[in-house]
Amino acid sequence: MQFQSYWHATAPPFAEAAKGPVEGHYDVAVIGAGFTGLAAARQLAKAGVMVVVLEAERVGWGASGRNGGHLNNGLAHMGRYVAGLAAAAARHGATIFEQAAVTAHRQGNGRHSLQTARGTVTADHVLVATGAYTPSLFRYFRRRVISVGSFLIATRPLSDAEIAATMPGNRTCVTSMNIGNYFRLSPDKRLIFGGRARFSATSDQRSDAKSGDILRTSLAEIFPQLAGVEVDYCWGGLVDMTKDRYPRAGYVDGVWYAMGYSGHGAQLSTHLGMIMADAIMGKTDRNPVKGLEWPAVPGHFGKPWFLPMVGLYYKALDRFK
Ligand SMILES: Cc1cc2nc3c(=O)[nH]c(=O)nc-3n(C[C@H](O)[C@H](O)[C@H](O)COP(=O)(O)OP(=O)(O)OC[C@H]3O[C@@H](n4cnc5c(N)ncnc54)[C@H](O)[C@@H]3O)c2cc1C
Repeated sequence: MQFQSYWHATAPPFAEAAKGPVEGHYDVAVIGAGFTGLAAARQLAKAGVMVVVLEAERVGWGASGRNGGHLNNGLAHMGRYVAGLAAAAARHGATIFEQAAVTAHRQGNGRHSLQTARGTVTADHVLVATGAYTPSLFRYFRRRVISVGSFLIATRPLSDAEIAATMPGNRTCVTSMNIGNYFRLSPDKRLIFGGRARFSATSDQRSDAKSGDILRTSLAEIFPQLAGVEVDYCWGGLVDMTKDRYPRAGYVDGVWYAMGYSGHGAQLSTHLGMIMADAIMGKTDRNPVKGLEWPAVPGHFGKPWFLPMVGLYYKALDRFK
């Protein structure tokens, strides 16, 4: 079994990242190369705006390359989609730096300066698109976004007979529990089965493996005919929860932002990224969550110490259901 995202393992990675030092002045700097940041960068670059994307790891490393792939309008390969979005942005002229974590942000004289270990860029506008992985230097968001682990397993490719007995119709499914499960078939017919198996704020191999065991048990409960089926991939990622589970997008403290999709951003993030790009360019403001209040979560300063208690609460609710 591989401890990596099925999407990462089965899509060619983005291959056009900018080489050399991180430097220069841009109209817009986007922090984070997930769906939000890349959709914004593509939209901006298409309009002729000079845009740079700074990504701490690599394109699609965050939630965009780790999700369950549940979309309203069909099934896509999320790894290919995120790499394709980056390629489209680059084709329109966006500069995308990988391994370029922003470690400091300064503002003055109408300009922003963003420091990375590979150099510093300046920009007229900044879009923070770091979701559940938002660094502590953006304290405003860290106080409002609760990063929660969500985990997945992918089985070996299923036979036609197994699919007919489990997922006829090739739909995406979500159970109605508070701590529920979600599942769909992959393009090569694996069952991708996920859930908030544990209320954890960490996703690493140890945490993912523990959650993977819980998911195997849940899979066998829901689909007894697949009990014992080989699991080829196990992975996890962080989702950016808000207290009311509504996303937030707008402009605060001199920076633009879109985040807080609360586990439902696979489509919305692309949409909000494009909307924020238009807002930055001064086009018609189509932001559907503009002006929505966003108070800080009391007692929350970045590490969600209260998650185990929240987990117990929802488990109890599910039991009474
Ligand atoms: C396990 C899991 C399952 C999910 N399942 C679904 C689903 O089935 N359906 C659905 O609709 N949604 C789902 N989601 C949610 C969806 O994937 C996200 O809402 C969406 O991908 C968010 O995209 P994003 O671009 O805002 O953030 P991300 O894709 O997380 O991108 C943020 C990027 O910012 C980068 N970054 C962080 N700090 C810095 C820094 N200092 N400098 C530079 N870069 C930085 C990170 O490396 C990361 O690549 C799931 C999420 C997870 C984790």
